[in-house]
Amino acid sequence: MIVDQIKKAIVEIQVKISITSNERITLVAVSKQQPDERIDAALAAGHRVFGENRVQEAISRWAHRRADYPDLTLHLIGPLQTNKAADAVALFDVIEVVDREKLAAALAKEMTKQNRHLPCLVQVNTGEEEQKSGISPQDTAAFVRHCQTHHGLNITGLMCIPPADEEPAMHFALLAKLAKTCGLSTLSMGMSGDYLEAIKFGATSVRVGSAIFGARLPRQ
Ligand SMILES: *Cc1c(COP(=O)(O)O)cnc(C)c1O
Repeated sequence: MIVDQIKKAIVEIQVKISITSNERITLVAVSKQQPDERIDAALAAGHRVFGENRVQEAISRWAHRRADYPDLTLHLIGPLQTNKAADAVALFDVIEVVDREKLAAALAKEMTKQNRHLPCLVQVNTGEEEQKSGISPQDTAAFVRHCQTHHGLNITGLMCIPPADEEPAMHFALLAKLAKTCGLSTLSMGMSGDYLEAIKFGATSVRVGSAIFGARLPRQ
């Protein structure tokens, strides 16, 4: 049964994490493009921390579940358009994708308006890939400071998605080094294929989708 499979996957991953590190690591279960029965299975297994990469999809999946699970923690892990900042601030608990001035300004404005001062991570484009969002490594420290001092955002850490075709280790190491420079303690890095390696490089939060839920459904 799917409930048992998902529960087993979560427990196994938690065990592997605890063998790899003595630190408290947050397991963000990435629920994008997953059918309802799998989401409900993870909830039935007691899991409460989830990640989504699209605002509208996240609203349709999570808005009605909030009432039943007040202890949910939802992380936004995908690119955010400024015109969706209001919806994102209303739904999510952690914004992992702050990556440009305009977005930082829009988020700060909405957080003040809604009186929801959410923890935020700055996304770093460690591979300096053109198509990928994220601030470049050399601009990260100044951008973090600007978000904190100019916008008053509660920047708690950094996040990265290493290039798909490269060894992730050097990217994890770079993100850890940048976080240290910035005096930030949260490091969101590592996915299904490399979360244990990310933890060895200091990840405090890992984003795991398919290893928990199985393959994602194609988007309509
Ligand atoms: C989809 C996604 C993940 C999860 O990927 P898996 O390989 O299924 O674990 C992690 N991080 C981000 C930013 C994603 O978009």
